[in-house]
Amino acid sequence: MKNLAPKLSLKEYENNFAELHPPFTPLTAKAEAERCLYCYDSPCTKSCPTHIDIPAFIKKISTDNLLGSAKTILDSNWVALTCAKACPVEVLCEGACVYNDKGEKPIEIGRLQRYAMDNYFRNSSPNIFTFSKKKNKSVGIIGSGPAGLACSAELTLLGYDVIIYEANKIPGGLNTWGIAPYKTRRQDSLKEIKLIKSLGVKIKTGIKVGETVSVEDIIKKHDAVFLGVGLGKSSELEIPGEELKGVYNAINFIEKVKSENWNSVKVGKRVAIIGAGNTSIDAATEAKRLGAEQVYIIYRRDTSQMSAYDFEFLLAKKDEILFYFNSAPKKIVGKKYVEGIECIKTKLISKGLKDKPKLTVIPKSEFIIPVDMVIKAIGQKSHNNFLNSIKELKMRDGKVVVNKKNYQTGNAKVFAGGDCINGGKEVVNAAYDGKMAAHGIDEYLSN
Ligand code: SF4
Repeated sequence: MKNLAPKLSLKEYENNFAELHPPFTPLTAKAEAERCLYCYDSPCTKSCPTHIDIPAFIKKISTDNLLGSAKTILDSNWVALTCAKACPVEVLCEGACVYNDKGEKPIEIGRLQRYAMDNYFRNSSPNIFTFSKKKNKSVGIIGSGPAGLACSAELTLLGYDVIIYEANKIPGGLNTWGIAPYKTRRQDSLKEIKLIKSLGVKIKTGIKVGETVSVEDIIKKHDAVFLGVGLGKSSELEIPGEELKGVYNAINFIEKVKSENWNSVKVGKRVAIIGAGNTSIDAATEAKRLGAEQVYIIYRRDTSQMSAYDFEFLLAKKDEILFYFNSAPKKIVGKKYVEGIECIKTKLISKGLKDKPKLTVIPKSEFIIPVDMVIKAIGQKSHNNFLNSIKELKMRDGKVVVNKKNYQTGNAKVFAGGDCINGGKEVVNAAYDGKMAAHGIDEYLSN
């Protein structure tokens, strides 16, 4: 990079990446729990993708039964600490809380869930689970992200031997590598992995399916297989200058930031992020917190078309990120290093299909934004390489097709869940898929 942002002191990095939502104290947690109305037909529970019995776990906090509270949470969600901190609660449970209808602040469900889970892990994760009789059957799980972890934990309780095959050296997928550090730290994910391993799940790391081992061998070795793979490589912009030094993809950049070795992560003085989804916002606010002087988000559509949540958009604005809407990148400018990005203005020409109106460019409206670094955040491709080699498995629009009732693919022995079937949703959706797929696998192997 031509112009690097100056390094900060360790204290400055820690301050910049401090948690957005600090934990409750025992007193404030109890006071918040007592505010809950314990609604009979709780809309918060209905809006949680894992259907945690929210009034029940909150009630247990109010009566100082913190272990019981954690048990209620874990019964529905195996990665509940990560979800408590990283879930978009504003559009899920807290968004559905009845207090919103009264014009009052909703119950802080995420922070209360975090309070119960922090207490559980602080007390060395006691074994509070009931195991079924051993079934002498094994299940292979590909990918140790939230879907794979949830599936493995549930199958272990159901009596199966489970091996997870993970390409990375440190397991956890998105939970370990992809969530902004001001939401969750890597340590949170590692605590959940330690708990799941303590149930008997084996995790083999550094195993690249399709390279180190063939998917056929895994399918042959086990009685059933669960695909919990995330998405693959970042999509390319396919514009001139993409090969210049200083062009990065958001996933790699976020992974580096997640290492928490902030001093060693290179960031430009002026950074342009391409795309306006939640990943773009993460990359933008992380670049700013690493010391970038100015960060821009460039998006070819308008605000109404952004896939980022409103609260993420607000966070970016609070971090003084500047937005260029209706601006399409045309060329990355520079000789060897990035020196700028040339964009062209766009306008809407028709409503088009569903939520993707058609755009056209406005002739002679090109402009250049001087930047030192470009981060591409325009989505990811799926792992078609080894998925395509699984007999009878069907793909549609880059996603694995499953029977929504039991998560079984076209290959009866293979099940799938999480990002590879939904194209990239929340951690909590993957956790639910993994748990439900475990029951689909149990039903399949019991017949
Ligand atoms: Fe409590 Fe709100 Fe859920 Fe009602 S909707 S049970 S008040 S958290």
